[in-house]
This record gives sequence, C-alpha cells and structure tokens, in this order.
Amino acid sequence: MRAIGMAERTLDVMIARVTDPSRRTFGRVLARHGTVASDVAKMRIEINASRLMVLSAADKIDKFNAKGALRDIAMAKIMVPQMLQRVIDLAIQAHGAAGVSQDFPLARFYAGARTLRIADGPDEVHTMQLARFELMRGDDIRARDEAIKARRAQIRDNGSKL
Ligand SMILES: Cc1cc2nc3c(=O)[nH]c(=O)nc-3n(C[C@H](O)[C@H](O)[C@H](O)COP(=O)(O)OP(=O)(O)OC[C@H]3O[C@@H](n4cnc5c(N)ncnc54)[C@H](O)[C@@H]3O)c2cc1C
Repeated sequence: MRAIGMAERTLDVMIARVTDPSRRTFGRVLARHGTVASDVAKMRIEINASRLMVLSAADKIDKFNAKGALRDIAMAKIMVPQMLQRVIDLAIQAHGAAGVSQDFPLARFYAGARTLRIADGPDEVHTMQLARFELMRGDDIRARDEAIKARRAQIRDNGSKL
C-alpha cells in the first residue's frame, strides 16, 4: 500500500524536524521533550504493525486469491488509512503552525490520507463485512464451548475411571 510509504515519509519529516538543533522550545530541541519522543515511537509501532497487516494480506492473496483473503483485505483497508491519519496528525502537531502550512507536505498528505478512508469503500462498509465474517463463527464457538463444558463435566463425574 502506498499509504505505508507515505507514513514512512511522514516519520522521516517528523524526525528531521524534532532533531533539528535550530528548532528549540523551552530551550530544548523538540525531541528532548518526552511527549515528542514518545510520539516518534508510537508512529514507528503503528507503521510497522500496519506494514505487517498489509504483507499478511498480500501473502493470503498469493496463496488463496483475493476471494480467500477478504478478511485480511478488509482489515488492512480499515487499519492502514486510519494509522496514516494518526501518524500525519502527530507529525503536524510536532511542527506546530508550520505543519498546516504549505512549507511542509504534511497538510497535503493529511487530505490524501482522509480520502483513503472513503475511496474503495468507506471504513463502515469494510467494518461491516469484517464483522459479518467474525460473527459467522458464533455457532461454531458455542458448539466448541459446549463440548468443552461437557468434557469437563465428564471428567469431574468420572475422573478417576477415565
Ligand atoms: C479520492 C477518491 C478516489 C476514488 N476513486 C474511485 C474510482 O477509481 N472508481 C470508483 O468507482 N469510485 C471511486 N471513488 C468513489 C468512492 O468509491 C466512493 O466515494 C465511496 O464508495 C463512497 O461513496 P459516496 O461518495 O457515494 O458516499 P456515500 O455512499 O453517500 O456514503 C457516505 C458515507 O455514508 C456512510 N456509509 C456508506 N455506506 C454505509 C454502510 N453500508 N454502513 C454504514 N455507513 C455507510 C460512510 O460514512 C460514507 O462515507 C473515489 C473516491 C475518492 C474520495
């Protein structure tokens, strides 16, 4: 997904800014503020988690074709654009007013990221499809739980004879 590349670029823009020795707030380079450093870590975690989600969906498509990977595609389609929005939002915050100016690509990225939550089906549609897949497992889960309960009761009642 190109969104992963955009998120990586956003993190680069963020790191360049917050480690720039000429940008100081309250006497400190921005990255020396704990909250800013923690945002960088959060961004890295979110990007890597999303990358793995996309790779996993791609792997399923290779093995089972798109129809066999619908759940994974839906999960990636929901998760990645939302991740991208959060990551860009954190980078904009660290840039202050400059983040929403045209001196940096972040505001443009943000508008692009926002459209990804609508294009190719809005989040809600993919969410409902994913929910349908998960909820279909309800009968199987209840049957399995009943079988476990019955087996436990059997062991409790006849344990020493089994
Ligand atoms: C940048 C961009 C590129 C696009 N490229 C293409 C393209 O190449 N080809 C193409 O055919 N289309 C394309 N589209 C159109 C896109 O697929 C539609 O915009 C999208 O499916 C939403 O349809 P809509 O805009 O008519 O909004 P609507 O269908 O009116 O939906 C509006 C909102 O209602 C909510 N909603 C809709 N359905 C449900 C539901 N079932 N459950 C709960 N809530 C729901 C969502 O919040 C949704 O955002 C593109 C859109 C964008 C923004």
